Formats: sequence, structure tokens, C-alpha cells
Amino acid sequence: MTRRRRWPAALALLAAMVAPALVGTAAHASPETPRALKMHDELMVEVELHVQHREEVLTALLDAAERHAADVGQRSARLAALGYTGDLTKLEYVLPVQDYRLTAGFGESGPHWASVHTGLDFAAPLGTELVAVADGIVTEVAYAGPYGIRTVLTLQDGTEVWYNHQLQPLVFEGQAILIGEPIGLLGTTGNSIGPHLHLEVRPGGAAPVDPRAWLTERGLTP
Ligand SMILES: [Zn+2]
Repeated sequence: MTRRRRWPAALALLAAMVAPALVGTAAHASPETPRALKMHDELMVEVELHVQHREEVLTALLDAAERHAADVGQRSARLAALGYTGDLTKLEYVLPVQDYRLTAGFGESGPHWASVHTGLDFAAPLGTELVAVADGIVTEVAYAGPYGIRTVLTLQDGTEVWYNHQLQPLVFEGQAILIGEPIGLLGTTGNSIGPHLHLEVRPGGAAPVDPRAWLTERGLTP
């Protein structure tokens, strides 16, 4: 036991003799060494953080790219299901309903309207799906007197697209909707004599314009 105890003491003595010499040598070689070591450590931490951050950014970018690819795929599949063909990634507008018969145009006068007709009528069976003509935000879902159940889709340029006389809305106010996504079901609520969509287009939320011309300008033929 005593022998064993002596060894650490001897080693400590040896260390005490050698260490200052080593430190001295190091200090002689580079007076900045402790500081340089500290800087080196800090730099390594920074490099590690930088690499970590870079990896996080790259991972986020890859995730976003994957999501975007999935979104583009879903969007194209959705538009193809509506009957659209060609380069669907470039399609920015679609018709609000796909199988229909136009029954009244914009500006027509008739016994059913207080003055002139302010929209375009798409007649189709009750419950036919109505879709978003473009990407936008739902800014109103309400019962609007003669318009019946009305959903207002506000597009990115501020144009309001009104879906009137619905049987049932399928979206809620504040919801972001993508082109071709369901808006509601075609109905005959309000001042209507049969199932149809009365579509109104109001640039900037102001007076209605002819939806047929508006759609035609966007490459569609209602
Ligand atoms: Zn109408």
C-alpha cells in the first residue's frame, strides 16, 4: 500500500518539474497560444453552428421543394380531373363549373331581374360541384337575399368572383383556395327559377363586368 502511494507523489513531483518547462517552451514558441487556442475553439463552435445551420437550411429547402413538387402534382391532377389538358402547370384560370348550359348572359334584361342581368348563368343539375376559377381567398360565405347562398372568392389581383344561388357552400371565410378546388354545390337558392350558377366578376370589388368576356380574356371559352 505504501509503495503504491509513493508513485502518485513521485509522478506529481515529476509533473511539477516538467510542466513549467513545457509551458515555457510553448509560450516561447508562441506567446499567443492560449488565446489562439480559445479563438480556435470558438471558431470551431462557429463552424459547427454554421454547418448545422446550413444543413437545416438545406433540409428545409429540400422539404419545400418536395412539398412544391407534390403541390404541383396535386394541382395538375386536380385540373386534369376537371378535363383540362396541355401544360397544366401554366394554367391560371378554369371555368367555375365544367358541364353546363349557358342560360343568360351579362347585360340581358328580363322579368327575373330588377334591372339588367349582372352575371353569367351556368345551368347544371342541382348539387353540381363549383370550383375556384383561380387561386384566391374566400372573403364571404353568406345568405345574400336575391343572390341566395353566396360565396365570394377574392383573387390575388383583388377581383371578386361571386358564386350565387348555391345549394351548399364547401368553404369558409378566410380560407385560401387553389385553382380548381371545390367552392360549393350548385343550387337554386334566392331569386332563382331553377338550378344554376349566377357568376359575377367584380374587379377590385367594384361594379360587375361581363364574366364571359373576362373568362375569354383568360383563355377560356364559356
Ligand atoms: Zn343570373
